[in-house]
Amino acid sequence: MKTLNFKIYRFILDLLFPSRCALCDTVISYDECICKDCISKIEYHENYCKQCGFSECECDNNPNYDLALSLGIYDGVLKNGILRLKTEMSGEMCRFFADWVKAQKEIKAVDAVTFVPMTRQRLKVCGFNHSKALAQYVSRAIKKPLISDILVKTNDYTHHKLSEIERREQVKNAYDTVNEKDLLGKTVLLIDDIMTTGATLNKCAELLKKSGAKSVICACVAKVDKKVILS
Ligand SMILES: [Zn+2]
Ligand SMILES: [Zn+2]
Repeated sequence: MKTLNFKIYRFILDLLFPSRCALCDTVISYDECICKDCISKIEYHENYCKQCGFSECECDNNPNYDLALSLGIYDGVLKNGILRLKTEMSGEMCRFFADWVKAQKEIKAVDAVTFVPMTRQRLKVCGFNHSKALAQYVSRAIKKPLISDILVKTNDYTHHKLSEIERREQVKNAYDTVNEKDLLGKTVLLIDDIMTTGATLNKCAELLKKSGAKSVICACVAKVDKKVILS
């Protein structure tokens, strides 16, 4: 009876406030996050080294994180979805990502969830941190606590026009830790929307480990193709 009531309730809710695909805005059923057409168009990130996160292994650079997982390639429908997520809070997009994270076998080791922070100035402009929104959904999906006040971003830099070396230099001084929590011996899941060169994740992982984390697993919605970064 309870299930039937819920179904009726959802049906009415669907009529009044239809759910929309996080990637193309088509009306979808309440139990979907992304329409079937968009799902078929997502370029999933496969055949890459999960330790460094790159298609052509860069583990020789000894990243501070232990794993870097990403759902897809930053292109096509997924790129549109992330661009939308940055401007409007998309619960469907967050739910879609959280479900994917939950399905990854490596996630079972996670004790706590955190995210790549924004500067205060940027937060004022954007109104919310989309990486935090993603992390909130992931935290709920995997039933692990969200730590939202350990990493801080102290200054902004312009991402796009920097070379990989310049970007690594800038990132070094852009993040810090405050309110150091007891992360001793814990496996922390670090969430971000996009992995580009890995410099940001690397710096944040370094700080989390300095705060006692035993290991850091990164999970991002999309990985930017290296060829795109270099072009
Ligand atoms: Zn769609
Ligand atoms: Zn590797």
